[in-house]
Amino acid sequence: MCWAFPHRKECENMQSSLELRNELKRIDHKGYPAYKDLKGQYDFRDYVLSIDHVQGDPFAAPSRLSIRVKGEKAGFPAAFYDTHAKRVTLQDHLTRLFAREVSGGSFQAKGSGKSGLLGVSRCGQQVLERTALKVEGGSITLRFEAGFPANGRTINARELEKMLFDILPVCVRKSLYYSQIDQKKLQQAICLCEDQQYIREKLPEMALCAFVADGSILPRESGISEKPMKGAVPFRSPESLKVTLELPNRGAVTGMGIPKGITLFVGGGYHGKSTILQALQNGVYNHIGGDGRELVITDDTAVKLRAEDGRSIAGVDISPFIKNLPNKKDTVHFSTEDASGSTSQAANLMEGVEAGSRLFLIDEDTSATNFMIRDQLMQEVILAGEEPITPFICRVNSLYRDLGISSVIVAGSSGSYFHVADTVIQMKEYVPFDITEKAKEAASGYPAMSGDEEPFPSYNSKRCPLPDMGLKKEDRIKIKTMGTSELMLARESVELRYLEQLKDQEQTAALAWLLKYAELKLMDGKKDLKQMGAFLEKQMDEKGLECLFERGDVSASLARPRKQEIMACINRYRRLQFQR
Ligand code: ADP
Ligand code: MG
Repeated sequence: MCWAFPHRKECENMQSSLELRNELKRIDHKGYPAYKDLKGQYDFRDYVLSIDHVQGDPFAAPSRLSIRVKGEKAGFPAAFYDTHAKRVTLQDHLTRLFAREVSGGSFQAKGSGKSGLLGVSRCGQQVLERTALKVEGGSITLRFEAGFPANGRTINARELEKMLFDILPVCVRKSLYYSQIDQKKLQQAICLCEDQQYIREKLPEMALCAFVADGSILPRESGISEKPMKGAVPFRSPESLKVTLELPNRGAVTGMGIPKGITLFVGGGYHGKSTILQALQNGVYNHIGGDGRELVITDDTAVKLRAEDGRSIAGVDISPFIKNLPNKKDTVHFSTEDASGSTSQAANLMEGVEAGSRLFLIDEDTSATNFMIRDQLMQEVILAGEEPITPFICRVNSLYRDLGISSVIVAGSSGSYFHVADTVIQMKEYVPFDITEKAKEAASGYPAMSGDEEPFPSYNSKRCPLPDMGLKKEDRIKIKTMGTSELMLARESVELRYLEQLKDQEQTAALAWLLKYAELKLMDGKKDLKQMGAFLEKQMDEKGLECLFERGDVSASLARPRKQEIMACINRYRRLQFQR
């Protein structure tokens, strides 16, 4: 068996790098398809280079290559990858190093199309598990893309020789060998990860759903940049919500603990309410050092709930919030191709429950007003019997009491939530103040509108998608993604732009593969969505994203999404069908 690619048969005939050089000489100046002959594994002594997929022409998607460095050669201490979180951090760090090396080089092969391109995943502010780089028992597999050079459609093998024999070995050495990299920086990344995981584990013990360290920088540089804002007001916890955690590396860190239950953020416009909520919704991920949010840690099942007019809904029980629609439309198995603000937000909530969320995050800026609240005057004029909507304010307490789901709500314009909140925080010039007592006192003079004594209504939680025979019959199912906002499976587009916690286009790409996998392998009319979500999660825990690919041909540019986004994606797929 071959140590480098144990699952592959071809490995038995691994060739030497010298043979690759000879092959390159042989095919130089030939027609582009001759590049296909290069497919295979080559021994470069310190690592194995594998040419996994060769592009059909210079303008097609670049060729896929991988590099495997043996554990003893790479030399990374086992303590850097002995937990899942640390391994992901190590992988992320090395991917960034390699990306810097390949983009830093001044080399650019001349030629047509994608000639000379060397590409690897671009990591953003989050630390994500990716197919680009995997550490297994110390050995490293790196996946990347290369544009095989050509002049017109004629092979320019000398340029490829430069890429594979001059440039690549340097990039590999400088990023995948422990002895060659900046060890202190790696150590810092691993230590940060340990601290982050420590906070994550402490949250439930301390009955918190989130922690925001003092000194954190929450606002971003701009609407299109995830980098921290320069000169921002650093975060400072109110005295009453202060908790101190003894982190394994950084030592004592103080910050705001958001207790489980119902927390309200209020304050004047432009005082930083939405900014803190956004920091919390991103806190489900670990961030890199220097991000400003690296010690903002949120329960990682948290789901941002918002209105999403126009989305499709398939067989979701929204009856706890909406029933008795005028046309007698069924809201226990509610389906529509074009949801309204309130029905979409209700469906997002019920699907969030289904996806196992323990924390909902809601911003009035992006909510349907009639889903959130109905004021007293309106209650008097429009009688309860005439109004199909039971607003969120009437369910938020039982959601916590009966289902154990906390809520953090930004509500600058309605005092009604004062009655139902356990904690009220005012944002004042970007600084939070605990005003719970003052708010409760003021509210006692007004009638409560929630009447929130009744238990959370029972609801139908078993939805078993039917198999799509048409799709199963297709022999090539095309997949395409557009940034983080949309994906296509076969000819069906899935709109994802309102999944705010989907952060990376490689996550979107993974969602497309996961949806395809679910369609072809899981949907059988018997398994429900919850089981499917749990199954996919388990597969990825055990085998990584590689589980989505039949054989060795793994995409080099996928990042792992959370179960919540996977299920949200399936729920937005317009061909989803249920037995009725
Ligand atoms: P709100 O939701 O209360 O209306 P936002 O959260 O949208 O306010 O913030 C308003 C503006 O203030 C945004 O441009 C944001 O980037 C900026 N901002 C938020 N927090 C800070 C901070 N800590 N320091 C400096 N600027 C901030
Ligand atoms: Mg706002």
